[in-house]
Amino acid sequence: MSASIAICGSRIYDGSGSQPYFGDVVLEDNLIRKISPPGQLNLTGVEKIDGRGLCLAPGFIDAHGHSDLPLVQYPRADSRISQGVTTEVCGNCGFSKTIASTKLEDGCQWTDLASYAEVLNRRQPAINLVALVGHSTLRTMVIGDQDVPAKPADIEAMQKILARALQQGAAGFSSGLWYIPGKFADTAEVAALNSVLKGTRKPYATHLRDEQGEVVAAIEEAKTIARAGSGILQISHLKTLGQPYWHLLDRILDSIEAGRREGLKITADRYPYLYNGTSLRMVLPPPLDRIPDIKAFLQNQDNLQETIATLQALQLDWDGIVVADTGEERDHDIRGRSIKDIAALWGQTPEQACCELMLRTYTFGLFRTMCQENLERICRQEWVCAGSDGEVANFNDQGRRRHPRAFGTFPRFFRTLIQAGCQPQEAIRKMTALPAAVFNLRNRGLIKEKAIADLVLFNEDKLDAKMDFLNPHQPAQGIERVIVAGKTAFLAENPEFRGNNGKFLQVL
Ligand SMILES: [Zn+2]
Repeated sequence: MSASIAICGSRIYDGSGSQPYFGDVVLEDNLIRKISPPGQLNLTGVEKIDGRGLCLAPGFIDAHGHSDLPLVQYPRADSRISQGVTTEVCGNCGFSKTIASTKLEDGCQWTDLASYAEVLNRRQPAINLVALVGHSTLRTMVIGDQDVPAKPADIEAMQKILARALQQGAAGFSSGLWYIPGKFADTAEVAALNSVLKGTRKPYATHLRDEQGEVVAAIEEAKTIARAGSGILQISHLKTLGQPYWHLLDRILDSIEAGRREGLKITADRYPYLYNGTSLRMVLPPPLDRIPDIKAFLQNQDNLQETIATLQALQLDWDGIVVADTGEERDHDIRGRSIKDIAALWGQTPEQACCELMLRTYTFGLFRTMCQENLERICRQEWVCAGSDGEVANFNDQGRRRHPRAFGTFPRFFRTLIQAGCQPQEAIRKMTALPAAVFNLRNRGLIKEKAIADLVLFNEDKLDAKMDFLNPHQPAQGIERVIVAGKTAFLAENPEFRGNNGKFLQVL
């Protein structure tokens, strides 16, 4: 037998959710060629990897990422490959850099999804990437970032770009109706765009218009938009944001179950953390939330004073808002600290400090808004898969500092579910076969003969991610080896070693 690698004697979680079993798995080229009970195959001349005492699963599939640009810049993808992720779905929350004309500092450029895919493949990334088409990006391309309704001609122009990207292999359509400029669209606009997906099996993925008091109405809106398209809805990072809204989870689950009974295919993703992470400007309430250029606005003294007063009236939990990064070297000492602490350090009120931070290059905040009970209840739903809401970043912390979810979501998702009483095979299904099914990734997400050999070899007892806000750029615990398309891409014993067998995955 001519084979490249055989992984021998490991406990195999095949991704389907069924009971694990022990076996030898033989890889040839980029495929799983043979699976057999341990010790039965003649493996003379085959490179053998001792998998005894370890578990083998399909490569983890991140249903929710933002690596459109970062994977081109850092094709080694430290934050993804080191936690066992072999494929990421990017272009979430309405933002997709893959479809818009982009030119990087090094001169490399693309004009659409097809040319983006060529650029990415030339960089030989460590992981695979799947792309969604973002509504906000379409709106910026056609209308700009102004608070105006879309005219019929605008909708037609956006539909054309969307249709072309779907033909070029985009896996679905995403929106972020909480953000500028997505929030300027009404339901009819997004439904008209989503109608381009009608007749396909591609999902509409959405960061809901509201995750607080209006969250149930926002889910109803998402269902309306899904009905206009393929009937397939992926709710992004499902949560109840803020303690006054934690009790709404019953009504959220009722609304989703009602949609599923009606025949909509509704799934969701979730990261296993209690802090969300986004631009600090998202603390601003209406009408300040609709100002496209918040920095220009705050440079006016009257506006600044008015904003400080507005924030004071809100009585925010400044101890629960942590600054991950501001994008500026001079702020090295405040990264990972709460706004309450930063204000004390600067001799300001938290509201003043917050406004000053919003004037920095890009202040990324981490917000203590969720509870463990709801997290576990959401993750346990059979239709919820793991999604990091993170992106490619490197170990040595160059560039922006990230939320720990970028490096730790998958091991921590597994650990969270086990501690909540879930079977390990069910946790693995949510990290593999379930997202593969939602995004139509054929021959991935399962360990079976003839499937693509994207695999993770891990220590089940050690699998976890313990990094904190101060030092999030680290490998997780328990990932021993990651294989992408039949070749080793990550090794715990030599974390600098990296494969380059990933590629852009067209979904047609
Ligand atoms: Zn989002």
